[in-house]
Amino acid sequence: MAGKQKISADLILSRARFVITCDANATIFTNASVVVTAGQIAAVGPAGEIENLYRADQTIDVSDQLIMPGLVNLHTHTPMTLLRGVAENVDLQGFLEIVWDKEDRVMNPDGVYVGARLGALECLLGGTTTTLDMYLHPLETHRGAAEVGLRHVIGPVFFDFPGPEKLTWSQRLEQAQTWPEQVREITGPYVPLALMPHAPLTVNPEHLAQIAAIAQESGSLVTTHASENITENEDTQKKYNATPTELLEQAGILKHRTVLGHGVHLSSTDRTTIARRGASIAHCPGSNMKLASGAADIVGYRAQGINVGLGTDGCSSSNDLDMFSVMRLSANLARLVRNDPASISAAEIIKAATVDGARALGIDDRVGTIETGKEADLITLDLDVPHMVPMRDPHTTVVFSAGRGDVRHVLVAGDLVIKDHQSTRVAANSVFTAATEHLAKYF
Ligand SMILES: [Zn+2]
Repeated sequence: MAGKQKISADLILSRARFVITCDANATIFTNASVVVTAGQIAAVGPAGEIENLYRADQTIDVSDQLIMPGLVNLHTHTPMTLLRGVAENVDLQGFLEIVWDKEDRVMNPDGVYVGARLGALECLLGGTTTTLDMYLHPLETHRGAAEVGLRHVIGPVFFDFPGPEKLTWSQRLEQAQTWPEQVREITGPYVPLALMPHAPLTVNPEHLAQIAAIAQESGSLVTTHASENITENEDTQKKYNATPTELLEQAGILKHRTVLGHGVHLSSTDRTTIARRGASIAHCPGSNMKLASGAADIVGYRAQGINVGLGTDGCSSSNDLDMFSVMRLSANLARLVRNDPASISAAEIIKAATVDGARALGIDDRVGTIETGKEADLITLDLDVPHMVPMRDPHTTVVFSAGRGDVRHVLVAGDLVIKDHQSTRVAANSVFTAATEHLAKYF
């Protein structure tokens, strides 16, 4: 290389022991480096080759770490960190009764802002770089999460009733019409537009059709809860003589990119419709097990061609935003449901938590894998800890041994938002104090 100038870059993550790429071949590099320039991955590959070609303003030695794509939490309600632990030992309907009452008082615009900052900090420290978030006062929620550095997808939420925001239906429609301009005023990594009807039981068919029309106009994705438990299905049958999926299909929602939260109890017709429409399921086993909602057959869904991503749900139903825990629960629950320990591999679970989540959001051309040209949303894990030794297979270790406390560095769109287990954006103590003070005032 004598005499040849190296290509300059912003950052090199140097000599990782492993790089899990989540590319189409599930490639894993050993002793590899990742080069980041202008927010994107400029190169990934064997450390020697890469570092002969590139020099960077900043180099971080990650020789005792593993690099993998940042995790995508496909279903959550981040500000509900403030309601962690308020509804214990109840099912979905009991949970909603308790939570809706608390939301009326606690979740004003200030509350969602401090709750979103707390939630975003928890997400990033635990290796989650993107969330599909559904919550009240979406603009304030988005502001809070984006400030902490999360790739935070959110949009207007819809209920037939005024809800804690006390908005009439026409005010909600108006909010949806002006949402694209509003959300673009908040700077942060790229996020797609989204619309968020709460559930087919809380948004009637006529209103769902209006939301489908706005999705058509704005090119937004739609996310909603669907078939989370049996009671919800029974209530929908009683009220409309249809399943939640049938209601979404009839209203024209599924013509657009759709992410269905939970999808635990789907009829075979529902599954066929979801597969045909290319909608995705956000599987939330932590919440489903805790509320005894049921066990989604994700192996069956995948075999039918349904894209499945993973989510935590909100902290009042699953108590934390830990995607490492969700990966392990997903793998174990799927095997239990199928009575087959070979029914889903660790590599497939990691893809569900990364690139399949990105695909559900329509951003898999930007994030979800570690490949040249992708935006640099990636995380590193400490390997010199007892539960990571010995390392036989990195995919298996990540799913069945690793935990979120192992996450050392986190990059979102090339920004080092977590360095050495600490936020570079916010002082954690100030985030905790703001949450405590808000709760002291309103809870
Ligand atoms: Zn939910």
